[in-house]
Formats: sequence, C-alpha cells, structure tokens
Amino acid sequence: MSAACALAEAGFRVQLVEQRGYLGGRASSYLHPGVGEVIDNCQHVLFGCCTNLVGFYRRLGVANRIYWTSEMTMIEPGGRRSALGPFSLGPFTLPAPLHSALSFLNAKAFTLADKLALARAMRAMMKPATLIDTRESLGAWLRRHKQTEGALNRFWKLVIASALNAEIDAISVPYAAKVIRELFLNSAQAGSMGMCTVPLSELYASVPRFLAECCGSVLLNAHVEGAAWNEDSAQWLICTRTGELVSDYVILALPFEAMQKLLPHLPAEEGAEKLARQIERHQHWPICSVHLWFDREVTELEHAVLLDREIHWMYNQSKLQTGRGGHYIELVVSATRFFAALERKEAIALALRELAEFFPRVKEAKLEKVALVKEMHATFGVPPGIDSARPAAHSPWPNLLLAGDWVQTGWPSTMESAARSGHLAAEALGLSAENPLRCIEPDLKPRGLMRFVR
Ligand SMILES: Cc1cc2nc3c(=O)[nH]c(=O)nc-3n(C[C@H](O)[C@H](O)[C@H](O)COP(=O)(O)OP(=O)(O)OC[C@H]3O[C@@H](n4cnc5c(N)ncnc54)[C@H](O)[C@@H]3O)c2cc1C
Repeated sequence: MSAACALAEAGFRVQLVEQRGYLGGRASSYLHPGVGEVIDNCQHVLFGCCTNLVGFYRRLGVANRIYWTSEMTMIEPGGRRSALGPFSLGPFTLPAPLHSALSFLNAKAFTLADKLALARAMRAMMKPATLIDTRESLGAWLRRHKQTEGALNRFWKLVIASALNAEIDAISVPYAAKVIRELFLNSAQAGSMGMCTVPLSELYASVPRFLAECCGSVLLNAHVEGAAWNEDSAQWLICTRTGELVSDYVILALPFEAMQKLLPHLPAEEGAEKLARQIERHQHWPICSVHLWFDREVTELEHAVLLDREIHWMYNQSKLQTGRGGHYIELVVSATRFFAALERKEAIALALRELAEFFPRVKEAKLEKVALVKEMHATFGVPPGIDSARPAAHSPWPNLLLAGDWVQTGWPSTMESAARSGHLAAEALGLSAENPLRCIEPDLKPRGLMRFVR
C-alpha cells in the first residue's frame, strides 16, 4: 500500500492486487462473527521513530487518527504501579537520553540493582559496536552484561522481547540496540507510542480512494498465482485466480512464506535460488490477543504493561478507540509459543485469572463476551545473522521489485518495516523507469546529548 500510494502520487498508473476481500494484511480489522464486533487482528502500536509509516498515513490523510502518548504504566501482580515517561515542568524538560530518567529512578517495579544493571546495559547499547552483528544473541549479551533477574524478566524478556516478538536467545544484538536507542534514548518524540483510534481497516479505507484520485485502482479477491516476463513487449503477464493482468513493472509485497509459494511460478532466473535459500532461513513467531467485554469499567488506564505473568499488555479499547461503547479490554501476549498452544478455554481462563491480579474489579465484573485471536505467523524473527537472509528491493527478475516487512530495511517485523520497504521499492522502480523519486522519509535526528553519540 505504501509503494502503491507513493508511485500513484508520482504519476504511475498503479493497480494494487490483493488476495483477500479487504486491505491491511497482518495489520487489519474485521467483523468477528463470535462477538459481533469489528476488532483488530491484534493491537498494533507504532512509535514516533516510525517515520515512513507516519509518512504513509500523512499521504493518505489519516495521520490524525493516531493517538500519541509518552506515558507507560507498569503494573505488578497485586496492583502496584510504576509510571514511566519523560519529565516536563512547563517548558522545562530533561535532555535525551535522560528525558525519562526521573521516572525510571522512581519506578518501584525495579530494585536499585535492577536499575543499575539496566543503566549499564543501555549505556553499552549506545556504543556503535552494538549495531554490528557479531552473531551473539541478546540473551548471551545480557548474561555477559550481568543483568539481574528483575531487569531480565521485567524489561528485556517483556518489553524488548515483545517489541521484537521473539525470545531473547533468538534476537540479534543490533536489533535490540536499535529498539533501545529509538524507543528509550534518542529522543522523547522517537519513543512516543501511537495507537489507532479507529479499527485498522478504517485507515486503509482511504487507499482505494487515494489510488482512484491518481488514476489507480485496487483489485480485491485476486490471488496471484504466477507471473511470466514477455521479452518482446518488455512486460509482465500476471496470472491471478480471477484473470490475467499486464504490467510494465511489478512489486511483490508478500510475506516470506507467500513469496516462497510463488517462486516456482516465476521465470527461471539466476539469483532465484539464492532468494529461495534466503527465504528458507526465516521463521515466524506467534502473537495472541484476548478481547474481553465486561459489564463495567475494570480500569481507568488506557494501556499498561503487565509484569511477571503470561499476559503482557493491556489496551483499554473503549478508551483508545473513539466511538466504541461498552467496556472492551484487549490483552496481548507476544512471543510465547506456550500461550499460543493453549486450548481456547484454557487461554481465556488463564488471561482472566491473571487480569484480576492486576485489576481486582475484574472479579466483580461480568464478562459479556470474549474473542481469542491467535496469529501463528505474526512476525518474522531477527536472530543473529538474519540480515544476510533479507533481500534488497531489486530482485533477480527485470522490472520486478520486492517489498514486505521481511526485506532489507534494517527494521524488525513491523508496520514501519513494511511501509519503509514499500518506499524503497517505489524508489527502486522510479530509478528503473528513469523517473527518480524521493519516497523514503528521513529518520528522526537524535536530540539532546544523544546528538554527540556516534
Ligand atoms: C498479531 C500481530 C501483532 C502485531 N503487532 C504489531 C505492532 O504492534 N506494531 C507493528 O509495527 N507491527 C506489528 N505486527 C507486524 C505487522 O502487522 C507486520 O509487520 C506488517 O503488517 C507487515 O506488512 P506487509 O505488508 O509486509 O505484509 P502483510 O501485512 O502480510 O501483507 C501482505 C499482503 O499480501 C497478500 N497476499 C499474500 N499472498 C498473495 C498472493 N499470492 N496474491 C495476492 N495477495 C497476496 C496478503 O493477503 C496480505 O494482505 C503485528 C502482526 C501481527 C500479526
């Protein structure tokens, strides 16, 4: 979608082809038949540093549908809270990377030993060396940097493992360092968290309109089954389940396993085998979400990090999404194959039991309806060495570009990586068509003292 809109705006006649009956892919919403409500397949958060995603939303005219906040509440079982966020007193703020230092020092969720260990690790992650993939896992790196149990369980295995959606032993250090720098060190703006105030698919409802205004179109329910290159006309013939299409250029913006299925139906070309080997190295991680409707408010908080339990994040959707009635709470469980393997009944019972430990009002509230969404192929992992398995936008085929969150963007499996990959593919296509474009949005510059960290 990001590639299509950027190219359409630049004057290309674009047709966006999607196998499903709606847009959004892994970040979409739908009417859940069990509860009769439109729900997101999972809460999707973005951050201030997601400049290409925000640029895409701006292009679509939907950037005002994102609610931004810099406050994060960590809750321990029993209900004790620690509020984290940048300090400000009128116009006075603290310079990055110290902008949230006061709330961190005050946080009851961490002991003094935890705080010292975390500060040491964050300082080490500021060094450029942590941005080089030495094939060491984050788990090994953290053991080497003597992280305490509290720091490991309440920060690294929760916040960072969730952001990268994998266990710490399956995460490469440069990706963890990138998250730490962007979310906690570079600036308060880069780390501010964005949440959509409408169901995700409402954001993308503007895509067909935007493309139509630029002489483009969207073709839904059209599964692409193969493509053939016509040397004479220098065009692609795209075979979909509903018919054939002809195009000068193609961008394949598929998840890696869909790309793997399509590969045998593309022309034989030097380099295709290498791509197949790269794809084989990717692995998926699951994310689960439990959607609960109560008869009354169980918490006044908009969102929270839940410590020491299977459930990780709470989003109060009745507060976050404007126009929602009722008392709708969404719980997110990242990177745990254990929770994903539970039966529906067991998973919901566990989630409810744990939620009551954080919010006692849950015990008195009546659960009106509930939905469990398990996304087994939610994101790809970023283990040490993964960069060599992420292809660039240029593919082995003429006039065919690759996009999707898993291609070479430097970002983990996120909407920002997807949007960025689309902009990279659009720029590559523009170059081939001798119509150079500038689509990539610049990164936010580090602020305060972080400007001097090289
Ligand atoms: C449960 C869950 C929670 C997540 N949480 C977050 C989060 O909080 N923040 C964040 O930034 N990211 C999050 N992500 C990751 C984010 O959703 C993805 O990184 C992003 O959506 C990937 O976009 P994409 O365009 O690369 O791929 P996709 O979204 O997978 O889009 C690919 C599209 O291609 C279509 N397609 C596939 N094969 C064919 C074919 N043969 N013909 C035609 N069409 C085809 C698919 O239907 C799909 O619409 C989450 C993902 C999940 C599943």
